[in-house]
Amino acid sequence: MRNRRAALAAIAGAASLALSLTACGQSGEGGSKEDTGSAKGGTIGIAMPTKSSERWIADGNNVKKDLESKGYKTKLVYGEDDPDQQVSQIENLITQGVKAIIVAAIDNKSLGNVLQQAKEANIPVIAYDRLILGTPNVDYYASFDNEKVGQLQANYIVDKLGLKSGKGPFNIELFAGSNDDNNTKYFFNGAMSVLKPYIDSKKLVVRSGQTELTQVTTLRWDGATAQRRMDDILTKSYKSAHVDAVLSPYDGISIGILSALKSDGYGSGNKALPVLTGQDAELASVKSIIAGQQTQTVYKDLRQLAKVASNMVDAVLNGKKPEVNDTKSYDNGAKVVPSYLLQPVSVDKTNYQKVLVDGGYYTADQLK
Ligand code: BGC
Repeated sequence: MRNRRAALAAIAGAASLALSLTACGQSGEGGSKEDTGSAKGGTIGIAMPTKSSERWIADGNNVKKDLESKGYKTKLVYGEDDPDQQVSQIENLITQGVKAIIVAAIDNKSLGNVLQQAKEANIPVIAYDRLILGTPNVDYYASFDNEKVGQLQANYIVDKLGLKSGKGPFNIELFAGSNDDNNTKYFFNGAMSVLKPYIDSKKLVVRSGQTELTQVTTLRWDGATAQRRMDDILTKSYKSAHVDAVLSPYDGISIGILSALKSDGYGSGNKALPVLTGQDAELASVKSIIAGQQTQTVYKDLRQLAKVASNMVDAVLNGKKPEVNDTKSYDNGAKVVPSYLLQPVSVDKTNYQKVLVDGGYYTADQLK
């Protein structure tokens, strides 16, 4: 048990951890061999949302490896972004007698009934990255400081445009994530806490007029949906104007926005690409940043998140209290869920080498 504590402490430190881990955001073999003193033999269910984004594939693999290195078996399932499918997958995990469930929800409100079944079967539940709402049957939450993610994106835009030194006005468009993901409003509100004063003072102008969260969400974080919305905005509001910045909450959405911009001539001639944010440091986006297309992303070390979640499971199953560092921020409507929040990091062309390559998240070869 002492070792588990040491492992958790190491998470906070982070840097040394990266050394023993392989690239691509996946835990290496040597990841957490120190935790061999835990309860063994039980199977842990891991329910992930989709394989369509590289981050969740890494998440599934990382959590699986970490749990297996602690002596557990795992059952990893992906819900293909279909909330009903995720519900029946979790039902199956319960029927199969898993000892605990780690779940990254597709729809934050659709899991109440199935988590009630988990409760009745005495199965603890860890919400992974996305909080599950409206049920008391979520024991712990492992995530990042989600409001900070939005602040990092918005501050990047403010700095790049030189708004603090009085430059402007500039045109900006706003995109948000899926409306059934609890993180969406944290990202958006975090970003708007930074951008709104400039919008109010007209140093930032949203020519589409779409500034409310309900107007700018992107169902299931779908890049093609974002691309269509950006196409539409460019046609309707930018016939004779230039868009200078786009707030994008996620790399897959940024890639869609970039396609719309390029189809409209941005990035060639004298039509400069706007400042374009993102999130997850997915490979395609990091390459795009290096190539001078997407401008920024928010890196979240998924290796650390997996460790937090698997340590939580291990602690709960051994009758210990998992380490948490936030007991206020995440009220799911039924309770305040004790959380461990990791820190996100802004990445662009100037620091990707140091953060992502030197940090062991990607190899230099992967980014070629
Ligand atoms: C995660 C982000 C991710 C998004 C789309 C959110 O819940 O926190 O990291 O970009 O889902 O997959």
